[in-house]
Formats: sequence, C-alpha cells, structure tokens
Amino acid sequence: MTAVALIVAAGRGARAARDPLQPKQYAPLAGRPVLAHTLAAFDACPAIGAIVVVIHPDDRALFEASTTGVSSKLAPPVLGGATRQESVRFGLEALATAAPEHVLIHDAARPFVTPDIVARVLEALDTNEGAIAAEPLSDTLKRDDGAAAIAETIPRAGLWKAQTPQGFRFSSIWTAHARAAASGREDFTDDAAIAEWAGLKIALVPGASGNFKLTTPEDMQMAERLFRSETPAWEPRTGTGFDVHAFCAGDHVWLGGVQIPHDKGLLGHSDADAPLHALTDALLGAIGDGDIGQHFPPSDPAWKGARSRVFVEDAAKRIAARGGRITNVDLTILCEEPRIGPHRDAIRAAIADMLGIEIGRVAVKATTTEQLGFTGRKEGIAALATATVLLPL
Ligand code: MG
Repeated sequence: MTAVALIVAAGRGARAARDPLQPKQYAPLAGRPVLAHTLAAFDACPAIGAIVVVIHPDDRALFEASTTGVSSKLAPPVLGGATRQESVRFGLEALATAAPEHVLIHDAARPFVTPDIVARVLEALDTNEGAIAAEPLSDTLKRDDGAAAIAETIPRAGLWKAQTPQGFRFSSIWTAHARAAASGREDFTDDAAIAEWAGLKIALVPGASGNFKLTTPEDMQMAERLFRSETPAWEPRTGTGFDVHAFCAGDHVWLGGVQIPHDKGLLGHSDADAPLHALTDALLGAIGDGDIGQHFPPSDPAWKGARSRVFVEDAAKRIAARGGRITNVDLTILCEEPRIGPHRDAIRAAIADMLGIEIGRVAVKATTTEQLGFTGRKEGIAALATATVLLPL
C-alpha cells in the first residue's frame, strides 16, 4: 500500500453543529453527514489505497451510521485521544504495522477537499518529506493591543494559511509524533508543526479557498449554500432488464460474473450469464440507449464465448459518457439450482467491480419458482434486474 488517508474526526467541538450535542463532523450537510462528504473526496482518488478515520470513543454508532456504503477503502476506525495531536498519533500507531509509504492527514471537518488537492499533495511527496495544502494570505493582519484596538500591522508577505491534507512519508511523521510525545510536547496545532520541529522540510502546495474548516454555525450555513449551488440538478432514471438461458451439457455456469461449478452448463452465444445480460439491459434502459442485442448482436462472431462483463462495462461507460452515476442495481435470479446463496457476495463484489460502485449499491437475490414453469423444471435460468441512474439535467 503506497498512500493512506488518515481522517481526524475525534474532536468534540460542537460549535458548528445545529444540534449542540452532535459533533460537527457528523452534522448533516446537503443531505449527508459532513464526514461522508470528506470520505467521498478521498475515495475518488485512485492513489489513496485505504482510509482510516480516528473517532471519539463515544462516536462509534454515529460513525457507523455516517459511513455505511460510503467507501470500499474504509478501514475500521481507530479511537482517538485527549487532543488532536494524540488522536493523530494513535492513528499513526494503528498504521505502523502496515507501514504505508505515505500518509495524508486530513480534518474530517473540511468536506470541500477535492481529489485535485489530494493529488497535488501526493505529487509533492515524490520530492519532499512532507507537503501541505495551503493558501497565501490575502487579508491584512492586525495584532490587537488587548483592548480591541490595533497595536500593529503584520506584513503578510510570505504568509500562508495551513490547510489539510498534510502529507508525509509515513516513517518520518510517525517518528516525529513519537518523539514529540516522548518530549512532553502536546501543544502543536497541526502535523506540519510537528514535522518542522523534527527538522523535516515541508513543501507548500496550493489548497483552495473553498477547502475551509467548518467551525462556526455560519460556516455550516455557508457550506450548505456552497453544496447546493455546486451540485448539479440530477434526474433519477430507472431501467429494468430480463433474460433467460437454457441449460445444456456442461460442468459450470456463469452467473453475475462468477463461475459456479454445476452439473450442467448454460446455452448461449456468449458465456450465457443471464443475470449480467439482464443487468446490461437495465443499465441501457435507464438511459434509453437500446438493448444488449442492439449493441452486441448475437450474429457477430466477435462476441462468441465473450465474458458478459464486457457488456456490463460497456453499458456503464455509456452512462459515464452522459455524465451519469449509477445509484444502485438490484438483481433477482430465478432457478431451482445451483444454490445462489453461497455465491451471493462474490457476485455482488464482481458486479460492484464492473460498475465501479460500492458493494453496498449492489443487491443480488435469488428465488426458486416452486418447481413451476421452465425454471421449476430445471430447464433454464431466468434473471431480472433493475438499475437506478442519476443523469445531470
Ligand atoms: Mg442473454
């Protein structure tokens, strides 16, 4: 594993939350918890292999409720400590065995981080021990005299506002944190400050003014407005698909992209994977783009013996080309045998992989037909699928 995101969500600051009892990283923002927005940004970065969240011990239930199905890269949470510094150290400690090459430490309460910012920080780590997202200061700085009057103006040239993510070589920041703790230093306000104290050279890379930390109720209101204005209007579309293949002589069947040993095979031009054919039609149906037979005619020898994931991936590409997103897919397989239950999660994982969506968005169900009809007589297998897609308006 090369890069891990360590998200710090252990704070108890309730200033920004609408409910004063709810920590702000779990507060609702544009219909999702703040933390879910943050995790989605890191999930979208291919270079991030895993995401670890440091949480407050009282927040286990909030964490579970806020992150279900958000990212397949999400590891079990780590319990934080009394201060942010201690929480980060506990998070690093939990990663010590895996020892990733790089770690990106990020505040959960910065939900506007983008995959671009993450990529810039990671790129800077190729040539630096550390790199942080930061913004040059544009406001003029005043120091007060202790009585709300100006004592002096501080030149702003060369001054930056530190943001997160802050990325480091894992071994360097882990050593720096351990040394700081051993020296009794618990007063650092960010991880770059610990790295500086340890003598590491830290690069400044452009963050974004929008990558601000939610602190006050006003921040929450501004964040809500920003999300509303940035989110395109989406139109939900639903498609359905149905397919049947007959049994023939053979020793395995392909169902949902998984090869399942059986005392029969399925007859077809391709691998005869009826669930994937139904799914392809459901995806194409959702965007009104013909059907599987139109795009992949059985008369075309190119598709003889083809793995049906090719058809599903093509449909997913057509959706992506329209700027769409697949919200969820739901399959029902009708057969007396083979038994689907033992293969259900493998099928879900295979389909999630083909579609590039989380496994929580893929449902696979099976039923017999009480020995009625062609499926009941074990003459073949039928499959039904529905797909929900969001298309930009
Ligand atoms: Mg078919």
